[in-house]
Amino acid sequence: MEHSDEVLTCEVAVNVGMEILADDQQVINLKDFVIPEFTCVICDDDCVGFGNNPEPIKPIKDGMCCDKCNYRVICPARWAERSIRK
Ligand SMILES: [Zn+2]
Repeated sequence: MEHSDEVLTCEVAVNVGMEILADDQQVINLKDFVIPEFTCVICDDDCVGFGNNPEPIKPIKDGMCCDKCNYRVICPARWAERSIRK
């Protein structure tokens, strides 16, 4: 996964409409942030969110892939690649 823990925490917080405290104790309303949108490089669907690293099926510079493709295509490909390398 390319997400840092911080990004994942923010993503979860946005989903539940939470407010988080920044380091300077200032309250940030996450509803004010724009959730990124992207087009999946594998199925071409318009998606909302941070996306997933599409490697090794596609280079990450081509864009991100959706959760569905991540589980259906990317994960099996990574497992296959790993087993070939052993
Ligand atoms: Zn997709």
